[in-house]
Amino acid sequence: MQQDIKQLSKHYDSLALSSFGRSLTNKKLYLLKLGTGPKKITVVGGVHGRESITSLLILKLIEDHIQKDNIANYKLDNILKEISFYFIPMLNPDGIEIATQGLTNINLKSKEFYLKANEGSNDFQRWKANGRGVDLNKQFPAHWGELKSKTEPHFAHYKGPRPESEPESKALANLTRQEDFAAVVAFHSSGQVIYWYYNQSKQQYHHDYQLAQKLSQAAGYKLVSPQESDKYAAGYKDWFIKEFKRPGFTIEIGEKNGDKSLPFDNLEQYWHNTRTILLTLAANI
Ligand SMILES: [Zn+2]
Repeated sequence: MQQDIKQLSKHYDSLALSSFGRSLTNKKLYLLKLGTGPKKITVVGGVHGRESITSLLILKLIEDHIQKDNIANYKLDNILKEISFYFIPMLNPDGIEIATQGLTNINLKSKEFYLKANEGSNDFQRWKANGRGVDLNKQFPAHWGELKSKTEPHFAHYKGPRPESEPESKALANLTRQEDFAAVVAFHSSGQVIYWYYNQSKQQYHHDYQLAQKLSQAAGYKLVSPQESDKYAAGYKDWFIKEFKRPGFTIEIGEKNGDKSLPFDNLEQYWHNTRTILLTLAANI
């Protein structure tokens, strides 16, 4: 991915590459900016180890948004004058390394540590957490204390010792505090659904729900109901909605796939589904 994004940013002058932090194993957390507009939207992927396909999806969306003059009815030139996209293709490079390569290249902790966190299994493909067994999407200060969680490092669902205890979640939170984003989008897998609710006030609820319906139409993904959404907390979009009172979305790409990664062969299909989703958001905020 590092090579891909370096090539992308070399090839396209309109794309600005930087990094906003480092992972536990010192890997850069990359940020690619596209657009010159005053309204900023951040688009995050690769939050969970086994969801690396969302990193590829973001790179594909970036290239598509640069190469095309029009996508559906959207004129890219006009949108990119109004909006700046802050693309973060991979928030969790260590977790993705574990899920895609096993323990070959990671020596942050002992083999025993990882085996215990993975319930004794040598198959690490289901790994969701970061390099030390913390779920990066349960790390944000939005009802973190009340969130039920595993109590020690685990391949999934351990919220860590405190909010923003991990360098990856902390870097994203700091960037978000710094940049005054108008909206945030996080791509995850799987289920073909969109989370948009987090205890919004009446007025904000109405606004965000309308926007969510538009995104749902653009992707053909269903909206998750507030009742269902209430089971979760401390996610990035939860915190963004609570803290900044602006819209945040978690978009689960691909058909429900349990503990497994989505098949890479389906990337084209996921891209096709999500192709207008960011533009729909950009045109409506
Ligand atoms: Zn996820």
